[in-house]
Parts: sequence; structure tokens; C-alpha cells
Amino acid sequence: MSKSPRPNSGLHPDSLLAHAGGGFDPATGAVVPPIQTATTFVRDEDYEPVRPGHIYSRDSNDLYLKAEKLIATLEDGAESRLFASGMAAIAAIVRSIKPGGTLLVQSGIYWGTTHFLRKHCKRNNIVLVETDASNFDSIHDEISITKPDMVWLEVPSNPYLKVADISRISKLCKEHGALLAVDATAATPLILKPLALGADLVMHSATKALNGHSDLLGGVVSTREPDSEAWTFISEERQIAGAILGSFEAWLLLRGLRTLALRVERMNVNAMALARYLETHPKVETVLYPGLPGHPHHDLAKAQMTGGFGSLLSVQVQGGKASALRVAGSLDVFQRATSLGGTESLVEHRHTIEGDVTSVPENLLRLSVGIEHQADLVSDFEQALTAIK
Ligand code: PLP
Repeated sequence: MSKSPRPNSGLHPDSLLAHAGGGFDPATGAVVPPIQTATTFVRDEDYEPVRPGHIYSRDSNDLYLKAEKLIATLEDGAESRLFASGMAAIAAIVRSIKPGGTLLVQSGIYWGTTHFLRKHCKRNNIVLVETDASNFDSIHDEISITKPDMVWLEVPSNPYLKVADISRISKLCKEHGALLAVDATAATPLILKPLALGADLVMHSATKALNGHSDLLGGVVSTREPDSEAWTFISEERQIAGAILGSFEAWLLLRGLRTLALRVERMNVNAMALARYLETHPKVETVLYPGLPGHPHHDLAKAQMTGGFGSLLSVQVQGGKASALRVAGSLDVFQRATSLGGTESLVEHRHTIEGDVTSVPENLLRLSVGIEHQADLVSDFEQALTAIK
């Protein structure tokens, strides 16, 4: 009987991904896994589970296990846990900080994370310190002074595309006994591996590029230390507190993962081409993309990331809010919608979304670059930028 590529088989990530979840169904011989909808599993006459470990689907389910094993391998990690959304994954990690503790978080990250952390810390008597983690001196000082229980980074950050030095920050965290968690959603595990750089935990909103088709909400956390206290807590948040991904979503995620390598490759190339084009455009003030040599953290991004710089970029157009909205309104290929990492390119005026909660510049448009033909994306901007004077 032919074997299927399994995580830890030494194959390249692209090959593992191409077979994600497939070929292991002895009952049918199907090359894709069946959708596992059962919530409960049978015991034999001696009251042992017919399939060891399979008792109730909040504890275990074949589809989660397949996706989790694959993602752990991609992350250079030991274990992963899927969650019902990226925010559920973030909440599970952060809830491990006890009341009276301190959380040091990177400023200017995904505003939903900031919003949640501010509320959560206030309600639970946790000191929240926000700092620009891409400025090493600043985070060095904050860690030394505040002695946090956990440091939270987002690399690259959304929507500013700042790049924090995971390796150096992880050394600081170890010196001061802080746990380092990294949200690497905008990068994907194919181009950034925070665990290999010293982070304790890495999380992704699987809603974004991991699934890649804008049709499920999911989150995932991975570790290299499955015996750690933090990992036990996070696993229990998933299992006992029940922040679990639906079975159909787990199936969709495995399906989406099959094309991750191809999508990431194309999106990296498209984003780079668009960033280069926009950078020279007279109606563009600034392009925020770590792949551009002029980006303040380009050298660090180049050293930390492999094979590309991701599909997220931001552009500040000449003029203010009205200009930015006019450009967004004139785009045809880019859809005006929130989110990122899907096959379709999206544009978002973040100031409209975030309002005065954060200080996103009014002329900033965040772009999630998809897998369309590069020339169509460039010409879409070419025509849209004619809308402003
Ligand atoms: N992290 C980042 C960087 C995000 O952009 C998002 C959502 O946009 C999240 C986390 C939250 O993920 P979800 O929407 O799956 O809950």
C-alpha cells in the first residue's frame, strides 16, 4: 500500500502541504480526508475507546490532529492547537497571565488584539505596557523596568509593517523570565519561524493566509515545549474551555493548506512588484513594505524571513482622507473589504475602521495582495491613482 507524505518525514513543506490531511483513510482509500462530523465516539465491551484517545470531539478529532501536526511541522515546533478564531487563540494565550501580572505588548499592531488586551488587562488587574517593539532600545528598557510575565509581538505588524527582532527580544525575555509570544499571521510559517528564533509561542489567525480563501474563521498556536506550564494552560483553554474549531472549518483549513506554498510564493512576488511600482509613483507619499530596501527594518526582515516578505503592505497617498478614500473607491480588482491573506486582493482604509482608538494616518490604505496577475494589480492602482490630483 502506498504511503502518504507525513509531517516529520523530512519532505519539503511544499510537498507536505500538497498532501495536507490526505491519503490516510484506510476505510475508503480516499486521497482527501472525510469531513468528521461526529461529536462522540464509541467504547468497546470492556469500556475502552474503540479508537484510543477518541472520546468526544472537543477533546480530539482526526481532522484537528492532521492539521495540527502539519502546522507544528511547518513551524519547526512540537505541537499546535487549533482554535475557533485568531482572537480565541490570542485570548487563550493571554489568559495564562495571572491577575497582578504584567503584559508587554507591541504598539501599533492589529487593533482587535490591542482592543482585547486593553479590556482584558483592565478587567483582570493585569498591567498592560505598550511599546514600539521594533525599536530594540525601547523594548530592552521596558523589559528591564517592567519585568513582564509575557511579551507579545506581531511580526510584521498590521498595518505598519514594522519588524521586531525576535531573536534578540527572545534572549531578553529569557534573561528576565518572560514568555515570548509572536503573532506571525502576516508572514505565514513558510517565511517566518518565530519558534526557531527563540519565541516560546507562535500564533496565526488561520482565517488569513493559512486557509487563504476567506471562507473560515480559525486560529492556531504552536510550541516547542509541550510539557511547559503555558502549553498545558493553552491546551486546556482549547479543550476544557471549548474554544474549538468546527469540524467543517478544520476540513476547509486542510483543503486551503494544500495550496499554501503556491499562494505564498505568488503573493510575495505580487506584493513586491506592487510595492516597487507604488514607491516610484508621484502621488504616493510612502509605501510600508519590509521587502523594499528603503524600509527601515529591511535588513532585519531579510535576515529573519526566508523566501519573501509577505502579502501585506500599506501605502500612504498624497492628500488626506479624501484622497485615500477616492483611490480606494476607484479600485476595481482590489475589493474594498477587511481581512488579509486571501486569494483576492483587498484594500482597506484603516482610519475609517479604527477611528480615534488608534492613530492610523488618514491617508493610509492597507493592501492585502492576492494571487491575481501582477500586471492587473499594478494597472488597477495606475488607474485608481489618477482619481487624485
Ligand atoms: N492577528 C492579526 C495580525 C490579524 O490581522 C487578525 C485579524 O485581522 C487577528 C489576529 C485576529 O484573527 P481572527 O479574525 O481570525 O480572529
